[in-house]
Amino acid sequence: MTEALKQRVFDANMALPAFGLVTFTWGNVSGIDRERGLMVIKPSGVEYEKMQASDMVVLNLQGRVVEGHYKPSSDTATHLELYARFPQLGGIVHTHSTYATSWAQAGVAIPPLGTTHADYFAGAIPCTRPLSRQEVGGEYELETGKVIAASLSGIDPLHMPGILVAQHGPFCWGTTPEQAVHNAVVLEEVAKMAWITGSIRCNQTPMDDYLLQKHFRRKHGPDAYYGQK
Ligand SMILES: [Zn+2]
Repeated sequence: MTEALKQRVFDANMALPAFGLVTFTWGNVSGIDRERGLMVIKPSGVEYEKMQASDMVVLNLQGRVVEGHYKPSSDTATHLELYARFPQLGGIVHTHSTYATSWAQAGVAIPPLGTTHADYFAGAIPCTRPLSRQEVGGEYELETGKVIAASLSGIDPLHMPGILVAQHGPFCWGTTPEQAVHNAVVLEEVAKMAWITGSIRCNQTPMDDYLLQKHFRRKHGPDAYYGQK
């Protein structure tokens, strides 16, 4: 069971360079086995070309490594905090993908401008507040998770499967590691489209809310009818 999750998390991590979302050793994907109380995550600083499924690090939900010969990703505490706060989540991705990170650096939420956005995100993609000096100097990665969770207060994280951390970059998630990667790819595309749209017409107003709701609900929730299922 853990071997299967290690393989899935490895495959999900390898999808990041394949989709052009990461450079060097940047980025990380995790997956969780809630029945066993285990999280699997990418090792810290290992090159993607040399990485193998057996290099994935297994931790318990208190953050103790229970299997693996490498240190886990330096962002491990952020992942653990998000899994603890949001039981819906089965996979989490962090990248510094160019367009989403640019919005994060600007500290600006990505407004919903069209149906590509609305198919996945039920509104503007939030940007967190900046972390304080105390938060950065303390348990930085844990505090990052807390700031993300605070920004999602009152929001179903599966209706907003990604966020921008101010002055940093995007975190995305889903019910599985694969879905989290899918959402990270979509977030990057949406961020790129929003930037281009803004360069065509500055101060572009958000899309009509009735169109946003139509697109989001036909793919998500009780009235979903998009696709073959
Ligand atoms: Zn980062």
